[in-house]
Amino acid sequence: MTTPWSPGSWKQCEARQQPDYPDPALLNATLRELAGYPPLVFPDEADALKADLADAAAGRAFLLQGGDCAESFAEFSPDTIRGTFQLIMQMAMVLAFASKLRVIKVGRMAGQFAKPRSTEIERSGDDALPAYRGDIINDISYDADARIADPKRMLRAYAQSAATLNLLRGCASGAQGRVHQAASSTGIIDASPSASRFRALAARVDEALDFLAACGLDPASAPQLQTTQFYTSHEALLLPYEEALARPARAGGYYGSSAHFLWVGDRTRFSGSAHVEFLRGLANPIGIKCGPTLAPDTLLPLLDTLNPHREAGRITLISRMGHDRVETLLPPLIRAVETAGHPVLWSCDPMHGNTIKTNGYKTRPFDRILDEVRRFFAVHAAEGTIGGGIHIEMTGQNVTECTGGAWGASEQNLGDRYHTHCDPRLNAGQAIELAFLLSEILNG
Ligand code: PEP
Ligand code: MN
Repeated sequence: MTTPWSPGSWKQCEARQQPDYPDPALLNATLRELAGYPPLVFPDEADALKADLADAAAGRAFLLQGGDCAESFAEFSPDTIRGTFQLIMQMAMVLAFASKLRVIKVGRMAGQFAKPRSTEIERSGDDALPAYRGDIINDISYDADARIADPKRMLRAYAQSAATLNLLRGCASGAQGRVHQAASSTGIIDASPSASRFRALAARVDEALDFLAACGLDPASAPQLQTTQFYTSHEALLLPYEEALARPARAGGYYGSSAHFLWVGDRTRFSGSAHVEFLRGLANPIGIKCGPTLAPDTLLPLLDTLNPHREAGRITLISRMGHDRVETLLPPLIRAVETAGHPVLWSCDPMHGNTIKTNGYKTRPFDRILDEVRRFFAVHAAEGTIGGGIHIEMTGQNVTECTGGAWGASEQNLGDRYHTHCDPRLNAGQAIELAFLLSEILNG
């Protein structure tokens, strides 16, 4: 028997990874204010994404989801947003050209602020402070005042999300959303070793467009070539914030209005979780991170809870096992889901199972990331199921956070441009290199 859902019913369940706000009155006043703000995304957009994801699950499209591990107030700038948008467009062109599939673009952007942490306390020598939990909660500087959870940060995160979304909508409907534009301006990847391969591909895309024009199909009058759909997503971690932005739809039901796609993290998807309870009642497409500790007998009840009507496109399972554990851990989950007949989209997160510490920096070796991608798609091919997407942490900036690849950092120069507020991201050159590898896999 399931109890009735309401936007606040999660409070009856175990909510892990939530901050302690020292001033409940300020928290409540802030949440009331947020609840009166406009929605950031709309039900028909979330429904359109759900239909797109159903296509990907059926092998008719491919999901490309990527962006920062954690957005930050410090890295907020139009250049950063445009850079990531452009990189996603370029990766999408590489993938679509090879796979002949429509690529669904989803940013980890415009709301990806709150972070789950492996320890509550961060130590430095004899000192101990509450962990940094993302800019929507507290400040990253190692200072007692900075680490106090401040509800007002939710208002700043909302404002930054609204401004980011505004720019993304402008990019998607303007020049940057054109296929031709993605092909002609290489920008940040110009300096990377993949640039010449990308330019050769772009020339073929240009030729195809010229050919279409010669046949009388003017690309300038084809909306599919002039604009793109770009969706947003984040981990629905900070429940008071997400609840304040959950809105009833005119046609019935509730939608999370903080992003089109919300996912539950590997640390908060346990049975009895408040996060699962909250997401259960929203009509948005939902992701579930599937890490090494997820057993089939936990996953199936989770699917029954989150998708009782077995709606296509509702659930994306994001596998993040670690490069050397894919073959042992993924097949039992795939088989259980197949036997139960749950419609899901399988996507590969090759980042979170491959994090190591080197010279004091959290990093990820590029070859392990590629390896997990290869193995994920090989397992699906062997099982006769569809690997329909990829979920990555990346930035359009030339950072040195992941080691390896033709344009990667060495262990020694990780410190050169290590800017992430949480996990290490692929830089633009590494992301394009990954897209080319993936294009070879998808091309058969
Ligand atoms: C993340 O996506 O940044 C994250 C924390 O992932 P996971 O829940 O898979 O560890
Ligand atoms: Mn991360």
